[in-house]
Amino acid sequence: MSLRNQVQLIAYPNRLGGNLSDLFEIVEAHLGSAIGGLHILPLYPSNADGGFSPLTHKEVDPVYGDWTDVERISSKYDLCLDLTLNHISDDSVEFKDFIQNGYRSEYSELFVHVDQLGEISPDDMAKIHIRKEKEPFREVTFADGTKDRVWCTFTEHQIDLNYNSPRTYALMEDYIRFLTARGVKLFRLDAFGYTTKKIGTSCFLVEPDVYEILRWINGVAAENGAEMLPEVHDHPSYQYAIALHGMRPYGFALPPLLLHALLDADSTYLKQWLRMCPRNQITVLDTHDGICIPDVEGIVPQDKIQDMIHNVSQRSADPILRRSAANVHSVGAIYQLTCTFYDAVKQNDDAYIAARAIQFFAPGIPQVYYVGWLCGTNDTDLMDQTGEARDINRHFYTREEVDAAVLLPVVKRLHKLMQFRSSYPAFDGRFALQYSNDKSVAMCWRKDEYYCELFVDLIFKKSTIRYIDARTQRTLTMKC
Ligand code: BGC
Repeated sequence: MSLRNQVQLIAYPNRLGGNLSDLFEIVEAHLGSAIGGLHILPLYPSNADGGFSPLTHKEVDPVYGDWTDVERISSKYDLCLDLTLNHISDDSVEFKDFIQNGYRSEYSELFVHVDQLGEISPDDMAKIHIRKEKEPFREVTFADGTKDRVWCTFTEHQIDLNYNSPRTYALMEDYIRFLTARGVKLFRLDAFGYTTKKIGTSCFLVEPDVYEILRWINGVAAENGAEMLPEVHDHPSYQYAIALHGMRPYGFALPPLLLHALLDADSTYLKQWLRMCPRNQITVLDTHDGICIPDVEGIVPQDKIQDMIHNVSQRSADPILRRSAANVHSVGAIYQLTCTFYDAVKQNDDAYIAARAIQFFAPGIPQVYYVGWLCGTNDTDLMDQTGEARDINRHFYTREEVDAAVLLPVVKRLHKLMQFRSSYPAFDGRFALQYSNDKSVAMCWRKDEYYCELFVDLIFKKSTIRYIDARTQRTLTMKC
């Protein structure tokens, strides 16, 4: 069955209340009909990176609950879970067995043995797309005292998997079957771009290999009744390629585009993108990662991106930078801005609501991150405690904090918008961008007798929806 065309909430298993049972109760009490799906960030046992270093995908970390809690959620809402296909934890049974038995381990092939890839020259190194302040390799010491190196793109705990081995494919197939049997309908394919290692290339999104892997994984998901949402932050053309391969792309260009549009009161680039963006996309304004800049390259001119970065940087923590493998300290360009979306729009309620209204009228299924749902502000304490810049937008909400936040006027306004987007039938019809000047946006949806339109004035940040009430056939106006 295909995904419901309704808003989805993105949440950690333990940051809205303390576990999955709290999460379900909070959603039932406060969101109910306002959403149709939930993306629960990694709920597997993990030893690093906010859950993204899973030991397996076949267990729920007991701190969060168990599969009964997950099935209670998936029986009511479309469930999206992460498939961390690029790596597995160094605390996994597979990796520990490899350390114990070396090349005799039945799991040895699961990992990328750097020293068997042939010579890696300084030039080759310089090309590799990296994500940390060192080369993406980790030394390992086997039980017998001998040493080896394995590929390791992210933290030293996250060991990359080898997509030249049938064992890796078998492992993924096993995970997909297991998770779809528990009701998963959509898999977020975490960091899939790093699965392709070919010395002499960037080892990132290497074609055609990357699409061969994606096609295979999408086929397995389809056989099991699920869809794929590959996650990549790079030039927006990759999202079109993902759509062409029959998967759901992310509309990651939207957050920086909207920030530019709202901060500069200029709808030019936003409208150009709305006209051409993939219609089957999943849109976000915020996620557990930062606001990504490469996603808007080629859509908004460089000087305007710079102005937007400069503006938002005044309210955010240090940005995350792109680095080169040859010189890990070289500052290429800004990769992610670390800030809540509500802070990015200067805690201006009207601007925030305008951004959400545009997101909800944009083609695709909209996702709302839990901090965005509650219009949260930067949690610098958490960030300082953990030393992780992205924690600025990963607040732990107690149930009491949620109860208080839902009473905020801006959160109530957002709730009304979410309900409208999740229930008005015209969103299953056709989208059109209407004429508006460069300081405003006008968009509409029509299906049979249902029609709704949104007008946003970017100068005064005022958003108005007009729609035909199906019962009375009268046109009603909603000031958002
Ligand atoms: C996730 C990040 C994570 C990385 C490694 C990304 O795409 O969104 O939060 O650090 O993958 O798993």
